[in-house]
Amino acid sequence: MKALVYKGDNTVALQEAPTPTVSSPTDAIIKITKTTICGTDLHIRKGDVATCTPGRILGHEGVGVVHAAGASVSRFKEGDRVLISCISSCASCEYCRRGMYSHCTSGGWILGNTIDGTQAEYVRVPHADSSLYPIPQGADEASLVMLSDIFPTGLECGVINGKVQPGGTVAVVGSGPIGLAAIITAQMYSPSQIIAIDTDPKRLEVALKLGASAVVNSAKQDAVAEVKGLTEGKGCDSVIEAVGIPATFELCQELLAPGGVLANVGVHGTKVDLHLQNLWDKNIAITTRLVDTVTTPMLLKLVQSGKVKPSQLITHRFKLSEMEKAYETFGEAAKHGALKVVIDQKAYVRTESDVNDPSSALEVAHALGSASYASYQMASTVAPTIKLYSSIICPVGSHRVKIVLDQLGLPYTNEDIDLGKPRSSDYLRVNPRGQTPTLEYNGSILCESAPIVWFLADSHPGPLAAPSNASGAALLRHRIAFLESTWSLYVWEPLSKGWMQVSDEAGVPFVESAMEGIVKEVQPLLADARPYFAGSETLTLAEVLIAPTLIQMQSFTPRKYLDELQRTAPKFYSWSQLLLRNEALTKYFDEEQYMAMARALQDKIRGGAKTGNRGIDRLTE
Ligand SMILES: [Zn+2]
Ligand SMILES: [Zn+2]
Repeated sequence: MKALVYKGDNTVALQEAPTPTVSSPTDAIIKITKTTICGTDLHIRKGDVATCTPGRILGHEGVGVVHAAGASVSRFKEGDRVLISCISSCASCEYCRRGMYSHCTSGGWILGNTIDGTQAEYVRVPHADSSLYPIPQGADEASLVMLSDIFPTGLECGVINGKVQPGGTVAVVGSGPIGLAAIITAQMYSPSQIIAIDTDPKRLEVALKLGASAVVNSAKQDAVAEVKGLTEGKGCDSVIEAVGIPATFELCQELLAPGGVLANVGVHGTKVDLHLQNLWDKNIAITTRLVDTVTTPMLLKLVQSGKVKPSQLITHRFKLSEMEKAYETFGEAAKHGALKVVIDQKAYVRTESDVNDPSSALEVAHALGSASYASYQMASTVAPTIKLYSSIICPVGSHRVKIVLDQLGLPYTNEDIDLGKPRSSDYLRVNPRGQTPTLEYNGSILCESAPIVWFLADSHPGPLAAPSNASGAALLRHRIAFLESTWSLYVWEPLSKGWMQVSDEAGVPFVESAMEGIVKEVQPLLADARPYFAGSETLTLAEVLIAPTLIQMQSFTPRKYLDELQRTAPKFYSWSQLLLRNEALTKYFDEEQYMAMARALQDKIRGGAKTGNRGIDRLTE
């Protein structure tokens, strides 16, 4: 497998390494889908962390899928999607029983430190039952990577240890990812002020957007005077050190109000001065802590409900193959405006037989703007406020919008609308037609999935579609829209009509007509890759628009018709196989639930046939 290895001498390299195997019955092997780089990894690269020796695979953050589980792992099984904690915990030693997982006698921070870590295709996680968390369905994995380390660290070592309280005053020294995570999570406790202190004006701007009430640039301003000025001369009740150098630790001591707490979060590599002559009579406390990740389950719920949005910190995305470039970018974070970088594992590998013309497919990826993805991500560090109203009964429209929001990395809250019941007056005020999906985007209401999807792609040019004023973009858009309407008219309409006939036999001509539509109408449009294939795991708008119905077609079309397409429509067949293997498209589709619903609908139609109801026009939107 490919893995990022610490080579000593300020160097890391992406190289081949043996794939890990279960070595203890409590181990699990996780296939990594997303990981990230931590400031601590840069400390290791510099040689600051003595426990981590050259040859080690780095990384202690990530999400993935259980690939193999040891015999005594009981909470997880192969195929489960999991969040990996940066702290491994046996859950039974003296420290674990006191909630200090970070000091577990056979765990603690070992991943990417004393054992191989997550910046690889696979990782071995010891004590899997108590070191992994199940990922809720529909959760945004990139957001969850932020829960492996930085959010629990900002919350536990900074906010909780710093005793942030309602009405209290907070100073956060350092607006890197951890400092920002502290600023975000401090708001859960309603302090009256959160003052962010840093020397980088760009990071201070982000701190303000993420909830700081004031910012101080300590390179240009007298930080102590500014903070005293903001707090009636008292200083702050909670002072959080999120840098890890002597100068910032000493600054924190000067920012403390009487009775305050200095909560150290930073990783220190050298001794610092403690000005006890100024502090001995001030009733202050100083705390240190290695994150225990005891707040991870709580944070998972807050992320799921949209109350905490960790994806706001993601500025760059790379593939595992670009890991060295990712280190360069993150290592010079100020120059690149980087906060957190997310490393995406390839969901699958497109081989030459998969796509008819791989070189042209790659060209498309660039034409569609994939190259500008990183810059797009930076420009929109502060995400729009988005609420989606969706329904499981209209999977086509709701799936499309969810997939696009995921692809664009846009955080959103979701409200399930039960289409089986009369709509509430609240929802009818949002969408008078009462249909789903409806999207609320910074206060604007948008209806109907296809126009919503186009709107999102236009508002966030990048991976799905090139900016609408780019050369050739209008023609590209027409071709995508034409494919989509061809698919709907010649394939999806007859298929869903066939399903709603009074008997299976009566449905056959409709299914045959749909298959003919694929061969005669859809297949010719796929003659060359443009603009339908993304050429990598990145999706195109054409793929997002068609995939939800394509996935359903697989579920309720007899196998023999689908297999026949391999011969009669080979390009369509290979394209559809790629889409069906892409987790980004399939993850919202619960086949069992969907088929139960479709069968119930069919039964209702067929029962009603006796009373003259000859079926309905369409299965879904
Ligand atoms: Zn870390
Ligand atoms: Zn333990």
